[in-house]
Amino acid sequence: MTKPFQPPSRILMGPGPSDVHHRVLSAMARPTIGHLDPQFIVMMDQVKAMLQQAFFTDNALTLPVSGPGSAGMEACFVNLVEPGDTVVVCVNGVFGGRMKENVERCGATAVVVEDDWGKPVDLEKAEAALKAHPGAKALAFVHAETSTGVESDARSLCELAREHGALSIVDAVTSLGGIPVLVDHWGADAVYSGSQKCLSCTPGLSPVTFSDRAVEVLKTRKTKVQSWFLDFSLLTAYWGGGAKRAYHHTAPINALYGLHESLVMLHEEGIEHAWTRHSMMHQALLAGLEVMGLGLLVEPSARLPQLNAVLVPDGVDEAAVRARLLAEHGLEIGAGLGALAGKVWRIGLMGQSATPHHVTTCLSALEAALI
Ligand code: PLP
Repeated sequence: MTKPFQPPSRILMGPGPSDVHHRVLSAMARPTIGHLDPQFIVMMDQVKAMLQQAFFTDNALTLPVSGPGSAGMEACFVNLVEPGDTVVVCVNGVFGGRMKENVERCGATAVVVEDDWGKPVDLEKAEAALKAHPGAKALAFVHAETSTGVESDARSLCELAREHGALSIVDAVTSLGGIPVLVDHWGADAVYSGSQKCLSCTPGLSPVTFSDRAVEVLKTRKTKVQSWFLDFSLLTAYWGGGAKRAYHHTAPINALYGLHESLVMLHEEGIEHAWTRHSMMHQALLAGLEVMGLGLLVEPSARLPQLNAVLVPDGVDEAAVRARLLAEHGLEIGAGLGALAGKVWRIGLMGQSATPHHVTTCLSALEAALI
């Protein structure tokens, strides 16, 4: 207990976190400086600019929330949703369910559009809900549902929200860096992500971006944002304050060094190349799984390359297979969640874990475990 913790060697191919490159870990080991140090502020501006590029947005309000993806999710809801509002929430997996929880905890009414786990959000059902609730404040949905491996049509859903005078709130925790997240092109209003998936940084930071329309809604709120820590009207005095930054909270300095390095690496590779790499690794994994007679839960048109929900064959103890992979190969893959518990394995090909080496290691380990 009193000795330093030495983590075992692992290959992370679950639903996140993904493998973190040694460049990111070394960046995080650099000396801590003050969170108002002029040199730190230069680095913050670079993080913001690189996040804007990754999100394909010019949004001035773009920052990494000091907290995991759940904090970014909560930040979007608490800043934009007030008591008495109505929000249409699309639920097709675990994380849509959490959005509903957030809406209700803001004192608002959640109108749930439910789709089967493993299917994308149905545009017609979302449209019908917006039509039935003409004053809805927002349409919320998960772009990349990590619990099922499904991509929903973010561009069309954001368009639908606009057509009905609602904001769009988009969960891009698993999508950013792995597939296109085109915030300005989609006209998305509030988008949050996570550091530990396709950005391959350590967990604990949540990039968020707000459109000018969302900022206007925040500025014209009738009530105070119910969370002091996540109130963007206060937080932006630190993140958006130019040279004159005001203390809000002590930023997680070394974690931000890590995010900076992971974004530098993403931009060195080129974000479009990163998307192509994720897609190619998915195809390679799929080819190998098919040879083993294994199939995916999701139909080809809605499959996420970075999260593969593999159907567990009849008679196979899925937990025993995962335990063997971990014990014999140091390889972590994910279990099914909720309704999919025991029915799928979730194999992540995210960020630094989307390489040919990861694909071949996973396929050979899985084959050995299934014999
Ligand atoms: N949304 C999605 C789609 C996720 O996959 C996750 C985490 O897996 C979250 C939100 C929550 O992120 P975190 O676990 O970093 O709080």
